[in-house]
Amino acid sequence: MYPELRTPDERSCELCGRAEVWDEDAGTWRVAPGDDDPPVGSLYCIHEWDINGSFVPFAERRETVEG
Ligand SMILES: [Zn+2]
Repeated sequence: MYPELRTPDERSCELCGRAEVWDEDAGTWRVAPGDDDPPVGSLYCIHEWDINGSFVPFAERRETVEG
């Protein structure tokens, strides 16, 4: 039993606002359903995923990305 090792089923990007949900059947991430405006975010974003906060400890974690 590995209670800590759960697959997240939602994630969102802190940078561009893209939101995705895990599609278990397809085995891949899909853009979260939106009414008229699906949160696709930016194509060119490197995506900094925030997975409900529980998988990413809020340590000092500043990455410098050029470009
Ligand atoms: Zn992004």
